[in-house]
Amino acid sequence: MNMDASSTPENSVGLDFLHVRINQDNASGRFGRKVHTRFPPEPNGYLHIGHAKSICINFGLAQEYGGLCNLRFDDTNPVKEDTEYVDSIREDVHWLGGEWDDREYYASNYFDQLYAFAEQLIRDGKAYVDSQSAEEIRASRGTLTQPGTESPYRNRSIEENLDLFHRMRGGEFADGEHVLRAKIDMASPNVVMRDPTLYRIRHAEHHRTGDKWCVYPMYDFTHCLSDSLEGITHSICTLEFVNNRELYDWVLDALNVYHPQQIEFARLGLTYTVLSKRKLIQLVKGGFVRGWDDPRMPTICGMRRRGYTPEAIRDFCSRIGVARAENLVEYSLLEFCVREHLNAIAPRTMAVLDPIKVVIENYPEGQVEWFDMPFSQDGSVEGSRKVPFSRELYIERDDFREDPPKKFHRLFPGSEVRLRYAYYVTCKDVIKDADGNIVELRCTYDPESKGGATPDGRKIKGTIHWVSVPHAVSAEVRLYEHLFTSPTPGNTPEGVEFTDLLNPDSMRVVTAQVEPALAEFPAGSRVQFERLGYFCVDPDSKPGAPVFNRTVTLKDSWAKIEGKQ
Ligand code: ATP
Ligand code: MG
Repeated sequence: MNMDASSTPENSVGLDFLHVRINQDNASGRFGRKVHTRFPPEPNGYLHIGHAKSICINFGLAQEYGGLCNLRFDDTNPVKEDTEYVDSIREDVHWLGGEWDDREYYASNYFDQLYAFAEQLIRDGKAYVDSQSAEEIRASRGTLTQPGTESPYRNRSIEENLDLFHRMRGGEFADGEHVLRAKIDMASPNVVMRDPTLYRIRHAEHHRTGDKWCVYPMYDFTHCLSDSLEGITHSICTLEFVNNRELYDWVLDALNVYHPQQIEFARLGLTYTVLSKRKLIQLVKGGFVRGWDDPRMPTICGMRRRGYTPEAIRDFCSRIGVARAENLVEYSLLEFCVREHLNAIAPRTMAVLDPIKVVIENYPEGQVEWFDMPFSQDGSVEGSRKVPFSRELYIERDDFREDPPKKFHRLFPGSEVRLRYAYYVTCKDVIKDADGNIVELRCTYDPESKGGATPDGRKIKGTIHWVSVPHAVSAEVRLYEHLFTSPTPGNTPEGVEFTDLLNPDSMRVVTAQVEPALAEFPAGSRVQFERLGYFCVDPDSKPGAPVFNRTVTLKDSWAKIEGKQ
């Protein structure tokens, strides 16, 4: 992973708090100057742009400091997890540039060790089997202002606890009949520390361990010990775990094992979307989108299908930086990063999204000229392709105005424009149907202007794109807008569901006419349609019938002028 390499990690000027912490630990020799992080997704959904931030932080720090980063599946909840999610996560982390070599771990691989650790806590008098119901446990936990009350089972003997715990594992009890709890302090000001549950009974098949287990360890018990077993140095997680850090430390101290440092950062929030797996699952299962990889989704696979690049996403993550304060980032910043990268790598091509026909009256019937057009003007994208020019062309309906406003430099009756890379044309006549709709424009061309300039050097302000009618390929183009109408769909007022805020116009499908070369690009190819935006070939494409997703628009200077008028 190639993160921002502009600053060396040891240079402390302008460093974020993660770098400062690691530098301190390196200076004190606390972890032997080692940096070993992990990215720990729970395989209960697809990764989203928030996870990308975490991936960039964890893999990025490891790379910067010459350390390692593990991929660890935090798979302790058999009910919600699935190998489909595991596979997608591996693919997405890899695509983003995360390299974990053979360090792919599963919390479920540690179930035997975790069970042994739990037994040790029992033997040390630091854990007990509670036989209260879930309700009773909840009710006796107290509140932020009131201490909890101790369970009547809290002082069971070690022998009884061990016996019950073994029988829990043996399958003698139903779900919820008993739990294993840490024996800490029911009056702790930190509610997390009031005898948290370590193990629960779940008679459920696990996607990796099958029916080997019917007791499963809780997150707080599993996570710190997985970190410890893997020799993690800095366990970087999001802020909602700040109160759990005390428990993280307690478990590791109680068992007297190797002790990583948990550090929290603020999770990413992004405008006009939701970043919660629970809500994203609702969008998929509820049929509000076409799937996890719907290009409108904030998932990594959705963004990939839409044409976003890993470079752009990493650039975005490095620009937003890492902080402790909750933040909401503008979606437009992500789009800016995508535009920046695609501008540098996407071949320029021509497509007409809303076609109107132009007939060039003085161009010979049946003649075709093949122009060799470069994929970029500045040479940033190498190569070229052949584009046919003929007597009948499509241009963009919006590039013609019968009654042009001021500063409109495109086509209108009597005006002369440059057809990109080809000729100058002048609009002579407008043909309408019986209802007054414009159906065709009649133009003449200047044969002297071939290639886009004339011997007399006259100035032409407008340049428009075009596609030859007899050579044009029909393409389905999917135009996307924000998925939600609200910038903060995750915070709905009482009585409003986040799905009520879905944008009904988030996808518009048009039939475009595209230059023939565009039918040859394989799925996943990213191109610029000149003057329109960046587009990506969708896997739904069939030979001769391409489908494109609009990745992001170009900044349209005209829209700005028109908006001001
Ligand atoms: P969600 O709220 O979407 O369900 P999660 O935290 O439950 O997310 P995990 O699979 O547990 O999802 O997350 C894996 C890692 O990604 C964790 O370290 C988590 O803190 C981090 N992460 C999740 N969401 C974000 C986010 N919005 N911004 C930054 N990091 C995130
Ligand atoms: Mg989580």
